[in-house]
Amino acid sequence: MIDYQHIINTIHSELKGVEDKGNVASYIPELAKIDPNKLGIHLTDSIGNHYSAGNADELFSIQSISKVLSLSQCFAMLGNSIWERVDVEPSGDPFNHLSLLEFENGIPRNPLINAGALVVADMLVSHLENPKEDFLDFIRRLTDDDTIGFNEKVANSEKETGYTNIAAANLLKSYGNLKNDVDEVLDFYFHQCSIEMNCRQLANAFYMFMNNGKCQKGKKYLDITQVKRINALMLTCGFYDEAGEFAFEVGLPGKSGVGGGIAAVLPNNFSVVTWSPGLNKKGNSKLGMQALEKLTTKTTQSIF
Ligand code: GLU
Repeated sequence: MIDYQHIINTIHSELKGVEDKGNVASYIPELAKIDPNKLGIHLTDSIGNHYSAGNADELFSIQSISKVLSLSQCFAMLGNSIWERVDVEPSGDPFNHLSLLEFENGIPRNPLINAGALVVADMLVSHLENPKEDFLDFIRRLTDDDTIGFNEKVANSEKETGYTNIAAANLLKSYGNLKNDVDEVLDFYFHQCSIEMNCRQLANAFYMFMNNGKCQKGKKYLDITQVKRINALMLTCGFYDEAGEFAFEVGLPGKSGVGGGIAAVLPNNFSVVTWSPGLNKKGNSKLGMQALEKLTTKTTQSIF
């Protein structure tokens, strides 16, 4: 049996002292205030054992990691019809690029870049009675944790400086691929990104991607084919224009966020979350990527 606790402790102590931790995201002013020295790791194995190291119990902004959860709620609710409005190809572009969107007539490349997540947000706004509350409730049920919430300061901070997302939403609207009011969709999107969770809560939320669509309590949210599709999207599109590098170094489906979190899964084995706010040039957590590379190397476990 693999001693995950020992491995995680080793990784934490190997990385804790590293000097170049990358740079904390500053384009959302609230995120620029985060201490770059934080480093947390949490792994939940397939039988529900928990292994933690470092700042795994501190809340952080999940940002783009929320895109996997909004996609899941949308996919579970609307099924394959969603693929008429968003494609499933990696973009090879940074998360907020708009050029492809114009080139491809308003159909975003995939649901994990901003334009794709905005289309997913639009579908949720159309189909949920109280969109923000119902999405939050979905996450609370997945994790069996009612303490999870939005950070209004972060949502407002992003709203004030979110020019590229505002442009993306307007471009989508001009192509007819946004059905609701632009401001309402953006408000939903900024709120979903502002959700705060710790490594443990996020590993619990991602448990269903490791466990054939069932959360830890046993409730099924996604069928096996849907899980396959979401994991495939995470592997090919989960790390901006560094998805190839993440597959190459780590070998797990996962998703990063500019808050410095990374959530990843090894189907039927574990879900794991790292948090280190310093980002590399491509916008992925610098130490988080290194921690996960060490995890799959030391355990010799990856999807490959
Ligand atoms: N809310 C951020 C944005 O849209 C999320 C970016 C990210 O985490 O990749 O710019």
